[in-house]
Amino acid sequence: MARVHEHRPPVRVPEIRKGDTVVVLTGRDSGKRGQVERVIRRTANAGSLRSSFRRGTPTSGLAVVVEGVNIAKRHTKPRQSQGRSDRMPKIQQGGIMDIALPLDISKVMLVCPKCDRPTRIGHTTLENGRRIRICGHCGEALEVKGS
Ligand SMILES: [Zn+2]
Repeated sequence: MARVHEHRPPVRVPEIRKGDTVVVLTGRDSGKRGQVERVIRRTANAGSLRSSFRRGTPTSGLAVVVEGVNIAKRHTKPRQSQGRSDRMPKIQQGGIMDIALPLDISKVMLVCPKCDRPTRIGHTTLENGRRIRICGHCGEALEVKGS
């Protein structure tokens, strides 16, 4: 018999979403602000129940890519195809590419667009039952366009 019902925790809505402005709290880019380009859901425990015993993992399972933050310079060399890759006769230009690496979501904080302060996100439920995020300081609704 196959197990049909998986024990799954309720899906938590990521508190930080694409398009949000966040400030970096720790690390080399501490204090920098930028817009969230991407929210990445990490699947930390891939199937194994044992991993649930590994407590103290600081990751919440979410990471964000923030525009202009946590930039890694990737040096690329001009490359010519030779030998085995001759099916792709592409010549790559060399140079330096800036790549924003994901940051753990715990390392950033949402900046309220109204009061311009890093804020804890609160929640409220509208009359129509819709749950929205609000700024912990000024109570402004923190909705992202298109969500
Ligand atoms: Zn606010």
